[in-house]
Amino acid sequence: MTDWLIIGAGAAGLACAVTASSLGDTVCLLERMDRPGKKLLATGNGRCNLMNSQGLRYPQGRAFAADVLRHMPYQKQMAFWRYLGVFLREEEDGRVYPVTGQASTVLDALRLPVQEWIVPSHQVRTISKRAEGWHAACDEGSFAAKHILIATGGCSQSKLGSDGSGIRLLEQLGYPSAPCRPALTQLETEKEPVRGLEGIRVRAQVHVLADGRRVHSENGEVLFTAYGLSGISIMQCASYAYGPRSVISLDFSAPLGLERTELLQELEQRKDLIHDAPPFRLLTGFLVPRLAQAVCRQAKISDRGPLRKTDLNRLMDTLCDYRVPVTKLRGFDASQVTRGGIATDDFRSDTLESRRHPGLFAAGEVLDVDGDCGGFNLMFAFASGILAGLNGRKAPWEE
Ligand SMILES: Cc1cc2nc3c(=O)[nH]c(=O)nc-3n(C[C@H](O)[C@H](O)[C@H](O)COP(=O)(O)OP(=O)(O)OC[C@H]3O[C@@H](n4cnc5c(N)ncnc54)[C@H](O)[C@@H]3O)c2cc1C
Repeated sequence: MTDWLIIGAGAAGLACAVTASSLGDTVCLLERMDRPGKKLLATGNGRCNLMNSQGLRYPQGRAFAADVLRHMPYQKQMAFWRYLGVFLREEEDGRVYPVTGQASTVLDALRLPVQEWIVPSHQVRTISKRAEGWHAACDEGSFAAKHILIATGGCSQSKLGSDGSGIRLLEQLGYPSAPCRPALTQLETEKEPVRGLEGIRVRAQVHVLADGRRVHSENGEVLFTAYGLSGISIMQCASYAYGPRSVISLDFSAPLGLERTELLQELEQRKDLIHDAPPFRLLTGFLVPRLAQAVCRQAKISDRGPLRKTDLNRLMDTLCDYRVPVTKLRGFDASQVTRGGIATDDFRSDTLESRRHPGLFAAGEVLDVDGDCGGFNLMFAFASGILAGLNGRKAPWEE
């Protein structure tokens, strides 16, 4: 009998398959798409940001992710990639990429050693435990093995494979799950605050306000789009901005490094310099003209007439707190990762085996763990897949 049935040939499933086969196990990988690893190819804008060397940034499932990454830390994952012949390069903020700059390098390294065992275009409908082992039923037939790994991902970007069906496979066996919603996604917003700003990128401190109260903050790049807001810091705010009265507050003064009093002094000096130029020129050197105009509009600064002290105060307040009300999160089709999924309590963090059903394993995004942008999601998917494949054994790349 085959040693492993792996449901889903994505990041976690392939990592498990390569690891188990390196220890002599036989493997069968069932994949619903016509090819393995479609999502992997799309990661990191096609460059695959596969790890991060700095810290643990997991807004959901942090304790479980930390345990998994304690068993399969950064250095051990580096050794795994070296064993597969993938050379890596670290870039800004600890982000790690293959030196080729191509996600296909990572996919090829994972896929080629197990190519003959990948069964594409097979969607698993149910799984069950029988006396002789684990079974997976597809429309095309059924498959059996001693162990089974559910590595079917979350609900994000179903065109790349993961459609939430793996979560249901485990729910059918009685495993509880947290409701799924998109995380790391863009925000649709009211039109007025983003009018005319499409394409502008700016650095800002970003705060999420829920009923006027700050619930989350990020620092980084914001991109204005036709529908609202995007950019890494916005995507990281998304899972906090789902409430009906969520507002994004952008502090454009943060990158300037000026105290409020210094900022006010600066604006007062500029007022004397710009003479009769329109008031948005006060923000020259702080913001690009289109954004400066939008800030003046929100601050209700008139295009005509002398600028008073109260106008400067309002301008400064708006520069530090530009409000963009959120209308909705962009959905699963736009999100990079899913918040929610199968509760981790039933799975061991050292092997990813179920505490309730020996021989049943779950790894990657199907579990209720999600990370920030920067390689944290793939790092968890790979770490959990490798640990499942090792199943408590020593890795050949550690010898
Ligand atoms: C555009 C984009 C860019 C991203 N960039 C990054 C990045 O640079 N760095 C990072 O860390 N993370 C990134 N992510 C997130 C990361 O890709 C995922 O968190 C990661 O792929 C999850 O791995 P997984 O193996 O759990 O699931 P997946 O990689 O989604 O693989 C699951 C596989 O299971 C298959 N499957 C699902 N259900 C079934 C079924 N019932 N039967 C058979 N097969 C099934 C799917 O077709 C799929 O191939 C990105 C995501 C997206 C969408």
